[in-house]
Amino acid sequence: MKVLKFGGSSVGTPDRIKGVKKIIDAVKGPCVVIVSAFEGVTDSLKKISELAVVRNEEYKTLLEESLIMHRSFADELAGEADKAEVLSVVNLIFSELRYTLEGVFLLRDLSRHVLDQILSTGERLSSLIIASHLEHARLIDSREVIKTDDNFGNANVDYETTAMLIRKSLDQDDRRVIMAGFIASTANDETTTLGRGGSDYTAAIVAAALNAEALEIWTDTDGFMTADPKKVEKAYAIECLSYQEAIELSHFGAKVIYTPTLRPVYRQQIPVFVRNSFKPEEKGTIISSNPENGNKSPIKGISSIDHIDLVTLQGTAMVGVAGTSMRLFGALARHNISIVLITQASSEYSITFALNPPDTKLAVTAITSEFEKEIKYSRELNVLIEKDLSIIAIVGEKMKNTPGISATLFKSLSRNGISVIATAQGSSELNISVVIRNENLGRALNVIHDGFFLSKYKEMHICIAGIGFVGSSLLKQLHKQHEILLRDHKLKVNLLGVANSRKMLVSRK
Ligand code: ASP
Ligand code: MG
Repeated sequence: MKVLKFGGSSVGTPDRIKGVKKIIDAVKGPCVVIVSAFEGVTDSLKKISELAVVRNEEYKTLLEESLIMHRSFADELAGEADKAEVLSVVNLIFSELRYTLEGVFLLRDLSRHVLDQILSTGERLSSLIIASHLEHARLIDSREVIKTDDNFGNANVDYETTAMLIRKSLDQDDRRVIMAGFIASTANDETTTLGRGGSDYTAAIVAAALNAEALEIWTDTDGFMTADPKKVEKAYAIECLSYQEAIELSHFGAKVIYTPTLRPVYRQQIPVFVRNSFKPEEKGTIISSNPENGNKSPIKGISSIDHIDLVTLQGTAMVGVAGTSMRLFGALARHNISIVLITQASSEYSITFALNPPDTKLAVTAITSEFEKEIKYSRELNVLIEKDLSIIAIVGEKMKNTPGISATLFKSLSRNGISVIATAQGSSELNISVVIRNENLGRALNVIHDGFFLSKYKEMHICIAGIGFVGSSLLKQLHKQHEILLRDHKLKVNLLGVANSRKMLVSRK
């Protein structure tokens, strides 16, 4: 048994859903298919709710647009035999939604409980429509088998009950089962959701319950990448990762999969394949317990968080005093503030930690009240805040036995004039993090990438002076052969500039 999950963009248009059907049809044995809402639908339902609660009538227009879109998907995809039935269920879900939103509008009240009911319709609709497009697929309502507490918006799964219900509801001879991602329900059958991006998590829960042979996450990227391809042009897909490495990478900027996803599959050592539904021929990334590392580099990937603040508590009142960090982090925990990175020098003169900027103000208030005596009266402590920073983390299990990793990291940065403001390394040596200024992020990622990863190709930068017969023929040849040179000869030719006697064009990039 395999579990396959398709994300919002993979099911973004009827044509893409037809492509998804091909991927599913190619699976030989039985499988469970988990789907997200159609691309953009969850965001749009959220927006509709937020308009309704402030009595902005525009929500009605958006709602009708969404109905039209879902009807057209159903119309194009549902098999003739059950099209009428599917369309009538689509209408039914929308009339339910209309009532709920009228309530929100009239009461000016949008509780998280009601929001979950509204958001859940995205996946209810997509799973219904996609199920009708697959032949002989049985649709199971995820809310009947995935049970959670009532922490609406980010509900916690009751693994035991859920696993029991999933096993019970699947027949031995079910070859194709389809379920909605993201949605679940409480013991009292109130609809809940598992957090934004939660369809991945649904898939992992189902895979663990069934002890599946594999979990395949089909998304719109080539897998986990060595770095964010939007910032590092040379980034490429990582072939294999251990669970820990994947957890480290998903925690940071690599939003390839929703972080809680890995927990249930890790426990049971179920391999996870992250693949691109737009390029099914690509291998993607395999996450497993003993990843073979074809990669020569001791690190697997580089990830980053774009915006963070650093807060430092410092002063003589904490030198050699036990319990300071307990008081500090206790105060932050009581305000539900989560910390991204912590570092403390062995002199114990200061503790520095990184936060998401929206939490900074509250954190400072919490610390100031906890250490009121030391800060206000004896003035032996003070709090510093630094803004506009980013974190870069390099991740890899092989770092443990390889000396010189931090040297390479810091050398790459210093050679390029990028100063490091703080650093942290856990003793597991799975991750080394550095904090730098925001403005240096793109450059830092690129130089670190160059420092650790052998490029898959050589680059040649050229300028052409003179575009007469020879020059222009060369230009044409380069244009024509660019891809062949890259693919067959691993040579990337970058044309930086062209000039004739009157004019010069230079690419700044
Ligand atoms: N549709 C939900 C979201 O956009 C869940 C998911 O796509 O994973 O957050
Ligand atoms: Mg997603």
